Amino acid sequence: MRVPMIAGNWKMNTTVSEAIKLVNEMRAGLDEITNVDKVICPPFISLAAVRELIKGSSIKLGAQNLYFEEKGAYTGEISPLMLADLCEFVIIGHSERRQYFNETGEIVNKKVKAALRAGLKPILCIGESFEENEAGRTEEVVTEQLMASSARIYYLSGLIIAYEPVWAIGTGRAATGKQANKTIGFIRRTVSEKYGKRIARDVRILYGGSVTAENAAEFMNQPEIDGALVGGASLKANEFLSIVRQTSKIKQ
Ligand code: PEP
Repeated sequence: MRVPMIAGNWKMNTTVSEAIKLVNEMRAGLDEITNVDKVICPPFISLAAVRELIKGSSIKLGAQNLYFEEKGAYTGEISPLMLADLCEFVIIGHSERRQYFNETGEIVNKKVKAALRAGLKPILCIGESFEENEAGRTEEVVTEQLMASSARIYYLSGLIIAYEPVWAIGTGRAATGKQANKTIGFIRRTVSEKYGKRIARDVRILYGGSVTAENAAEFMNQPEIDGALVGGASLKANEFLSIVRQTSKIKQ
């Protein structure tokens, strides 16, 4: 059985004090729900404070990025070892990083390997652009991204995949549940071809792209979709809680 997961990507939002306030608003409500993995991913600078706040609760912590070297002269970067000391998950290959920071498949692959080596659980993001979608290239693009990201990785233990069509991220224009379910089913079959049936059966694949309290049920009702990576709506305590609560009911 795959435990459903709702992960909140706060992106470059919240100061440390705002992060503390937001966690305080959602902590009790999230903690109550036990059949869903609830992961919050605040900016790096708030990880330590948030970790203290959620200690003893069932809420899990993730980072939004990492550098692939363990340590050294890489001014301004954050290493997998530093993160492994603070949190359990790390988002890798988000389309905003691919788009604005030129992260290639090779870089994403190095990051995934470095995260796994450090014992972190990567939330690997893949997804096609609007043009690729229009051209009917979705399956080709997600296969290419998945293969590049997982090159020379022989065991996917702990890895989570987030299918995030780029055209749906932060646009308010989500995919339909059916579309997302179809592509996620395809991704699972691709994982099966590379890693075998057991791993494909166990790997959690989330949908991401304009998930809100209003449309969450549509995605969670789909059999292939194991949860969501939520951006904008994860910054509102009540909305994030509502998404987690709906997931808990639907996936029980
Ligand atoms: C994201 O940042 O991964 C995301 C899906 O954002 P949004 O929910 O705002 O579209």
